[in-house]
Amino acid sequence: MHELSLVSALVEEVSRDAQERGVSRITSVSLAVGKRAHALPHALLFCFDLIKRDTILAAAQLIIEVIPPLFHCESCGLSETHDALWLDCTCCGLPAVPTGGTELEIRGYEGDCPRGGKEN
Ligand SMILES: [Zn+2]
Repeated sequence: MHELSLVSALVEEVSRDAQERGVSRITSVSLAVGKRAHALPHALLFCFDLIKRDTILAAAQLIIEVIPPLFHCESCGLSETHDALWLDCTCCGLPAVPTGGTELEIRGYEGDCPRGGKEN
């Protein structure tokens, strides 16, 4: 499963970063997933629940923000966000080029800080 390796990398990255900051327990992770990223949110959630066990993310919740595709028209320069996999420019009708929506990025995470202060 493709999502399994994605989530595995995500858990590793967050764990490493949290350990560097002295965070002992993660409570939530925010992930931006583009519609064109070829990763299904429900599969990501399923894999996350499997992989997080026995890590400092064991009690963490995965929060997924789905990013709609962004299209750019090369003839008239219009950029628009549209919830579709392909699009004809709404201004001039020519096929627009997809320029976004392939994100798969960790937007941030929250956890317990051992020093009792705030994150960031
Ligand atoms: Zn156009």
